Amino acid sequence: MSKIKIKLIILGQLPVDLDKTKLSNWKSDVFEIVGQIDNYSIINNADGLSWEFSDENIVEQLPDTFEGDFLIAMTHVPLEDSYYARRFTNNRVCMTFYEMADILNNNNIPIENLVYRLLYSYTLIYKRHGNNIPSRDEITTFTHDESRGCLFDMNGIKSDVVYSTNKPTVCDSCVQRLTTERVPLNTIFKIQEELKAIKKGLYYRLADLIKKYPVWTLILSTISAFMIGTLGSLVASIIWEKLLK
Ligand SMILES: [Zn+2]
Repeated sequence: MSKIKIKLIILGQLPVDLDKTKLSNWKSDVFEIVGQIDNYSIINNADGLSWEFSDENIVEQLPDTFEGDFLIAMTHVPLEDSYYARRFTNNRVCMTFYEMADILNNNNIPIENLVYRLLYSYTLIYKRHGNNIPSRDEITTFTHDESRGCLFDMNGIKSDVVYSTNKPTVCDSCVQRLTTERVPLNTIFKIQEELKAIKKGLYYRLADLIKKYPVWTLILSTISAFMIGTLGSLVASIIWEKLLK
């Protein structure tokens, strides 16, 4: 399968610390990010009662043409119905870091992980719908309401996004549905493999390990401290015996 080409853009100012280089350098055998991540200004004000931006408002601000198979716009303004990603015509998607960045930061998950998750889920959506991203008006059933740490978790309760942005998976029932929708098995397996790289930073992985196994961590650190102490005394005795005495 040739790689899906995805165009990433930023819509408006991002008050969150997003590492564009890290996003651009992500390596995948199933998709590639084309060109640089361009910035587009937000030209309209919010038009919703709770300061959100309606779909009609957002679509006016997205580019009509772009390089690539589909486009993902990243913004920080609230979207319609409090969703964190909305689909539009002409293979365009808009995702927001509004509320999501706080949830991820509070759980020590890099905010780029949310973008990686969406890159993989929309790649599969594009494939399962015959190389097309269905717009929001089309009835689709690719998500499930239960949070399983899967790319297709609905995340109606936004805080559940933490389960699918740290080593996400494609759950068994989604694999089954993808195969019946003629997505090649090798593509699904490849994605499952690549998803393992979407994880927390090393420091927070170690902190999680310590939290999970506190007694073993204590035992190991005691043994290490004892061994370092013994080794230190041994080296000191050798130096004393051979060099100084
Ligand atoms: Zn699933």
